[in-house]
Amino acid sequence: HAKKLGKNNYQFFTPEMNSAAQHYLKLEHHLRQALELEELVLHYQPQVKIDNGCIIGMEALIRWHNHAMGIVMPDQFIGLAEETGLIVPIGAWVLQTACKQARAWQLAGMPIRIAVNLSGRQFHRFQDQRQLLDVVLDVLKETELSPELLELEITESILMHKLDTTLDTLNQIKQLGVRISVDDFGTGYSSLSYLKRFPLDTLKIDKSFVKDICTDANDRAIVSAISAMAGQLKLELVAEGVEDQSQLDFLGGQQCNYGQGYFFSKPVPAEQASALLRQSVLQKQ
Ligand code: C2E
Ligand code: MG
Ligand code: MG
Ligand code: MG
Repeated sequence: HAKKLGKNNYQFFTPEMNSAAQHYLKLEHHLRQALELEELVLHYQPQVKIDNGCIIGMEALIRWHNHAMGIVMPDQFIGLAEETGLIVPIGAWVLQTACKQARAWQLAGMPIRIAVNLSGRQFHRFQDQRQLLDVVLDVLKETELSPELLELEITESILMHKLDTTLDTLNQIKQLGVRISVDDFGTGYSSLSYLKRFPLDTLKIDKSFVKDICTDANDRAIVSAISAMAGQLKLELVAEGVEDQSQLDFLGGQQCNYGQGYFFSKPVPAEQASALLRQSVLQKQ
């Protein structure tokens, strides 16, 4: 790839830009092979019912273990995957792997929800090709996972573009029985009217509002307001980024029923997630 730029192009790059560009090319080169080399891994983070501590779901979060670069986190490569279109096969792999895992848990007597992230450009790329629904259908059929156990996490930005087709697609997904949640809620620029227009099940309060909930009166006000609104609209509410007991105590006093964050568990590999689940089931009995 680097060669294609041609020798003369180098004069337009400062040394910093040059090395950033080189890093990007290297990343892209490796990412193209990541699926084939089986370098992608899913970790799972519990979603917990606040009043009894039971795990009701797991969010699948992708990691990339590259032989040359080590562990690469999603924030470092999802954007690149979107730009290159690699997000389509990678996204299908994530869905497939997560549903397969959730089906295994279901068969083991631990039927919990699996939450899978769909990024904005991933959603619209799929949608342009009328593929998203097909991919979801195929994966459900192949893995035999109950549709109610799958939740797709979308962002507010998805709800702002191509409103009519987006609404169609989400309605069709919803008709399969699959749940839809809005990730990082409160950080986007969309209007609240989408909350009644779209077939949503869950809002996830962004962790930036939860972080200083114990000390910042504005954050408390925002979380209280979102909680009350979600309750009225009959939407489930998950607080992201719960890191300590005092945050949990505040959330417990609100109409926020579910939490996710390091306080309960970091995202962990499938084996460890299974162990957490077994523990949670025992605790319930
Ligand atoms: P997200 O969907 O909002 O996921 C939550 C992020 O917050 C995760 O970062 C998680 O590790 C982190 N987190 C969880 N609990 C805590 C906490 O208590 N404190 C703090 N400070 N952070 C916490 P991660 O795994 O690095 O993922 C970052 C983002 O990358 C995700 O944000 C999601 O938007 C995206 N992503 C991850 N996996 C996928 C995927 O399979 N497909 C797509 N399209 N995007 C993905
Ligand atoms: Mg998410
Ligand atoms: Mg989030
Ligand atoms: Mg996010």
